[in-house]
Amino acid sequence: MPKFKRILLKLSGESLSGAQGHGIDVQRLNQYAEQIKDALSTGVQIGIVIGGGNIFRGLSGAGKGFDRVKGDQMGMCATVINSLALSSALGAQGVKSRVLTAIRMEPIGEFYSKWKAIEAMERGEVAIISCGTGSPYFTTDTGSSLRGIEIEADVMLKGTRVDGVYTADPEKDPTATKFDEITYDEVLSRGLKVMDITATAMCKENGLPIYVFNMDVYGNLKKVLDGENIGTYVHA
Ligand code: UDP
Repeated sequence: MPKFKRILLKLSGESLSGAQGHGIDVQRLNQYAEQIKDALSTGVQIGIVIGGGNIFRGLSGAGKGFDRVKGDQMGMCATVINSLALSSALGAQGVKSRVLTAIRMEPIGEFYSKWKAIEAMERGEVAIISCGTGSPYFTTDTGSSLRGIEIEADVMLKGTRVDGVYTADPEKDPTATKFDEITYDEVLSRGLKVMDITATAMCKENGLPIYVFNMDVYGNLKKVLDGENIGTYVHA
């Protein structure tokens, strides 16, 4: 894998809940912040998109009778809560970050633009880009693809709780085997659940490679940046 100058790190909201299963697990949050601090010390520029599944998902809300658009707006607000939590945890460790929001909500965060994000990263701050795409019917995976492409990241690092892309769900199928690398087309044709189709298609069309790895194992983010082969590289 090449060395990266600028990365877009996607963190899952669900992982942030740790063992609790919902909300924010402070230990997990602080571990993420420590890993990000270590990564930043290597000189790489970091943009982050964080999900909101630990708090609310529009689609599951719709299943319980919520209006889908309002539910998705609740989900986007959840990403802002997680982004503020991460920014706060980074601040406690002496790392500067800037929360940007795709929906106007000053003074909680600044209204997102590509240039504000790049300006922050070039100053050595972490740009935390919240609200996903800012529109309902999308996911934060698609938000990550979009922002990764916009901010001209070299790669999207998708931090999950599994260590890469498998032939089947390894949590359900013990015979599943892991790919070291795989093409976008194969991910799409095999219907592999790396990310949703929209997110994968965007990365494919704009040539943004994805590296899937287990962010919940402490130290893994640094290993990925050091070029250790611990996950799956998705490319053209
Ligand atoms: N969401 C949305 N538009 C976006 C990104 C997110 O409406 O561009 C909403 C959607 O309801 C989603 C929720 O925010 O379910 C939380 O995001 P996601 O499910 O991607 O979080 P994760 O799975 O990473 O925790």
